[in-house]
Parts: sequence; structure tokens; C-alpha cells
Amino acid sequence: MPDGEEIAAPPAILKRLYKLGLQRRDDLVLHLPLRYEDETQLTPIAEAPAGGPVQVEGRIVDVVTRSARRRELVVRIDDGSGLLDLRFLSFYGSQQRALETARDQGSGVRAFGEVRFGVRGPEMIHPRLRIVAGDSPLPEALTPVYPTTAGLGQTALRSLIARALAEADLGDSLDADWCREHSLPALADALRLVHSPPPETPPIALGERSHPAWRRIKLDELLAQQIALRRGYLSRREQLAPALQGSGRLASRLRAALPFALTAAQQRVVDEIAADLACRSPMQRLLQGDVGCGKTIVAAITACQAIEAGYQTAFMAPTEILAAQHFAKLSAWLEPLDVGVLLLTGEGGGRAKRERQREAARAADLVVGTHALIQDSVDFSRLGLVIIDEQHRFGVAQRLELRRKGDHPHQLMMSATPIPRTLAMSYCGDLDVSVIDELPPGRSPVRTRLFSDGRRGEVIAALRSVAAAGRQAYWVCPLIEESAALDLQPALDTHAVLSEELSELRIGLVHGRLHADEKAAVMDAFSAGGIDVLVATTVIEVGVDVPNASLMVIEHAERFGLAQLHQLRGRVGRGAGESLCVLLYQPPLSAAARARLRVIFEHADGFEIARQDLRLRGPGEFIGSRQAGVPLLRYADLEADADLVDLARATAVQLLREEPERATRHLRRWLGTREELLGA
Ligand code: ADP
Ligand code: MG
Repeated sequence: MPDGEEIAAPPAILKRLYKLGLQRRDDLVLHLPLRYEDETQLTPIAEAPAGGPVQVEGRIVDVVTRSARRRELVVRIDDGSGLLDLRFLSFYGSQQRALETARDQGSGVRAFGEVRFGVRGPEMIHPRLRIVAGDSPLPEALTPVYPTTAGLGQTALRSLIARALAEADLGDSLDADWCREHSLPALADALRLVHSPPPETPPIALGERSHPAWRRIKLDELLAQQIALRRGYLSRREQLAPALQGSGRLASRLRAALPFALTAAQQRVVDEIAADLACRSPMQRLLQGDVGCGKTIVAAITACQAIEAGYQTAFMAPTEILAAQHFAKLSAWLEPLDVGVLLLTGEGGGRAKRERQREAARAADLVVGTHALIQDSVDFSRLGLVIIDEQHRFGVAQRLELRRKGDHPHQLMMSATPIPRTLAMSYCGDLDVSVIDELPPGRSPVRTRLFSDGRRGEVIAALRSVAAAGRQAYWVCPLIEESAALDLQPALDTHAVLSEELSELRIGLVHGRLHADEKAAVMDAFSAGGIDVLVATTVIEVGVDVPNASLMVIEHAERFGLAQLHQLRGRVGRGAGESLCVLLYQPPLSAAARARLRVIFEHADGFEIARQDLRLRGPGEFIGSRQAGVPLLRYADLEADADLVDLARATAVQLLREEPERATRHLRRWLGTREELLGA
């Protein structure tokens, strides 16, 4: 830590500060109040309202201990307008003696707390109390209340912060003109105001943090985040990737063989990606598009460009079922064009098999697989492009490992769990983002219905009529616990019950404990129409594409998260004709479950659902700790402060270009020792 940044305090205090994440003077300066108390005014006892916190001051008329159920200390005060009892259920003898002395000397006390009306008249329980001898002025600013930890009182923390604020270098990262232009105060002024606001500051603006001072601080926080992300982005652009440029004939032949034409949105993202691949700096692009919008064909066209340029493509998916499905689709599309496609899943197999796979991976043009792709035994001879499907299901480390199998290959990440724009800018700021914002033509929206568990009979009837119409259905059972991914009983039970009740139909079962080959066999049978109702665990959550399926039943829908429900519902509505999603729930519903089910019932648009999810859960939960490459925000709120995210982004770009040293200082102020975390 550079000189002059340490906090001067005894080791015991430093330890507690450390617990709060406060290591440097700048950390103290940026440790901001949760709320404020108004000790700038006195309220006459007779006028004190019940409930709200007030400050009163009066002469001590009595100090007594009472023994009701337990011993308590009662201090009675009189301010001329009325009497008030201050009650302490725990106290030291020394406190009692000090109050007795004050009483004998005719001193007053100032008490801050909530008045309530007990049997003996108005009282305050455990008020904050201060003996005032003679004429001691009231504070001129509101009293901040800081987040703290055991053993570190507000008074001690306040004086540490006040000192840090007086001594720290509050040099601004932004020019005064810039601040004026954006109606924001200078940082130093903003910090002083937020730490000790004058009493006339509008309490609403302070409490809701919409005051310009708060906005300035939130902007600075977002600016630090954007600078960090932008730096990552720029340093990546200095690396050298293979320029993947070919004649485009392979992709054209693929497109000519498709039974459909690309949507305008697909065409646009194909062009964006193609331009990236032709450059020598490694692409790092996130392709977002709602469930069913057609990301797989975009990936295939992208792979053609790499393959035509003489490089290999690795295509990683989170589940064996999805990898197998991609393999089936991609090999059907590409093998007629003489492209070698290989499927790699599962860890097992003997040495000989692994050796064969290894050889095959070095030779194939396109290798599709699960995380098996990142095993040590797999390597590539000339990996130029990495595609990661359902990228949110992988950790940062796994994505990095796959990338390391090549020499700065281009990377395309795909996700159907849409990240709201502000969140994407805030957490994926070092990625370029392409969005497919349109579904292929001819899709009709999926109807959604909520049934309590008691109405299973109606669901059985729906399954019959779907099968009678030659369509197919999924029935998804939740695992009891996410971690006990082995708990299969519900799916086995449902399979047994449905097989009995619908004995005329073909009922299939797929779950995570089946061997890869078995899973593939069931999924193939379902795709080919050989199964009417597929009972499944969440293994089918992502990616599975069987257009003839038109009914999705989700059992215990209340146990699923919003993103999961949206993904599952997205398994239907992929073909022509109407589709239905039935959410079966077990009453009574918790408030949170009710809120989730309402969102999924009311909204079909994945981006809107994601926005609601963000609102219900907050960014930390939403993005998952594995995803968060940057620290979470403490003050700024991505929903409420969306305009500041935009401003911070633009400002970060400019600051890095024009005054990189100032940008570095800014980053250090906000991230300090956490800065290394951002290197990854
Ligand atoms: P997702 O974006 O969820 O991964 P998929 O790539 O699985 O979606 O595509 C969903 C379905 O839509 C597939 O059956 C695919 O062949 C089909 N599809 C993709 N693009 C088009 C298009 N432009 N017109 C018609 N159907 C399309
Ligand atoms: Mg997909």
C-alpha cells in the first residue's frame, strides 16, 4: 500500500475495519451512510409524536432502578413541556452513577429515540443518551449511520471517517466544466454532503439516493467499473488471433441447402461476426437471443468461415443431450459439404478410446462436445474459433480453459438467458454484444396456464388430446434439491403414474443419471416422434429443439427460477400450430414464488422476464458469482441508474484515451487492492 494511505488506528480497530472491507483511507471515505438521524433539532416532550425518532433534552428529575421481571434503570427527565421516562434494561453501575451525579449538579441530558406511551406515561426504551452540561450546541449536520460490525460503534466509526475525509486527497477524476455540464457536483463536495448533510437537504432525495451528490458518487463507482472493463477490452485487442477469411463459398452452400432463409436479425449478426473473424484481434462476442430465435445456424455459418480459412472450431454445450443434438444437426448440415464433424462427450472410456478421440480431435474441422472438450487429453492442431452455447452455464475458468487450447482463438458466446442491457454493459463490458431480436416467421406464442396440483386430471386430458393431434409433450419434474442432482424419485414416480393412466400412449423418461448413449437414444426417439410424452428432469432445460412438441407441463413450477421457467417453456412453440405451457404448482405459494409465477404468466419476452428477474433478485444473484468477473456495485443500481451506466461508459472511453493516468488513479481509489481481481 502506498504511503499515506493507511488508516491510523489501534490494531483491534484495524481488524474490525478489515472485516468491513476497509483497508485504506480511501475505503473509509467511500464507506457511505445507510441512513441519517436528525439530531439538529430538539422536540418538546409534550409534542413528540409516537413512533418517529426524535431528540429531546431535559433536566434529570429522577434516577431510579426498578425490579419488574428484571432490573431496569429509569431516568425521568423534564423539559418544561412534560415528563419522559428513559428506560434501560441493561446498564452499568458506572452509567447509573454518572447520571446521578448529573442529576445532583442540575445537568440535562439529550436523548434520541422513539417515544411510546406506556402505562406510566411517555417513555423511550434504550435511547441514545448524552449528558449536556451548560450550553452545548446542537450538531449542524444530520448524523450519518454507517454499516458497521460488532465491536465498532457508530461514534468511533464516524470519527475515523471524518478524519479520513479531512486528510484524503479528494482530487477529482472529472473536470469542473464537465460536472457543471452534467449538473453534478464535484466529488469532494458530493462526499462531504453525503457524509454530513445539512439538515435542509431534502430527506427523500437523500434516502432514495437521487440527490445529485449521491448521483455523482454512483457515477464514479460505475466509472471505475467501466474503466476496468474497458482496459480488459483494450488489452485483449492487442493480442493476435488468426484472421479467418475465406471466399465465403462454404457458408453460401450451407445456406443454399437450408429449408429456410435467415431472418433479418440473423443476417445482421452473421455479418457482425464475420467482420470480427476477419480481424487479427481475437473476437470476444456475446450472441444474445431469446429461446428459439435460431442461434445454432448462426454458429454453423460462423464455423464455416473458420473452417474455410483452414482452422478448427470447438463448439461446447453444457449438457450431453444438447451436445448430441448439436452434433446431429451440424453433421447433417455440414457433412454433405465435406466438413468433418466430431462429437466428444463423457470423461470415461479406456486409454485406447481416449487415444482415438485425441487423434480425431486433432483432425476434425468441427468438434462438438460438453466440457469434455477441456479435458487435458483433448487438444487441437489449429483451433481458430471457440463457440460456447448457453454460456451462462459455464464458469469463467472453463471458458478460459477452452480458449487456451488454441493460440488466442476467436470466441463466440451464445446465451438465451438474456442479460438486460444495463447489466450486460456493467458486467460484460469487455464483450461485444450481438442481439437477435426477432423470431423466425410462423411461430405462434405459447399460451401459459397456471394450475394448482389438484387439477392434474385436466392436464392428463390435455396430454391425450395433444397425442391425438399427432403432437408431443414434455412433462418436467424438479429435482428435490439442486445439489442432490441424483434425486430422481419424482421423475420415476411420474413416469410410472403416467404410464399407467395413459397406457395407450408411449411415455419416455430421460434424466441425468442415464448413460450418455441412453440419453441420446431417448432423445432420438422423441425427436423422431416415437415417444408421445417425455417425462424429464431439467436435463432438457436448455437448447433441446423438437418442433413437433406442443405441450410443456412443469410440475412444482413454484420451485423453479424465472430463467429456468422461461427456458423450459421455450422448448415448445417451435413449430407451426398452437403450443401450451402448463405450470402445475403446489399451494400454498410463498410470496416470492407467487411473484415469479406471475411474471412468467404475464410475459413472453425473455428480455422483459430477465429484467423482472433482476428486479426480484438483484444483480448478484442474477449473474451468479461464477459469472461476475468484476466486483458487484455497492451504491449504483443498474435499474434506477441506467442513465448513469451510459454516461460512465462514454466517460471511461474518453478518460482512458485522453488522460490514462487519471483513469488509473480513479480505479485505484475505488478498487484499491481489489484491482488485481480484474486482471483475469
Ligand atoms: P436457439 O436460439 O434457442 O438456440 P435454435 O437454434 O435451436 O434456437 O433454433 C430453433 C429452431 O428454429 C430450429 O428448429 C431451427 O432450425 C429453426 N430456425 C432457425 N432459424 C430459422 C429461420 N430463419 N427460419 C425458420 N426456422 C429457423
Ligand atoms: Mg440453442
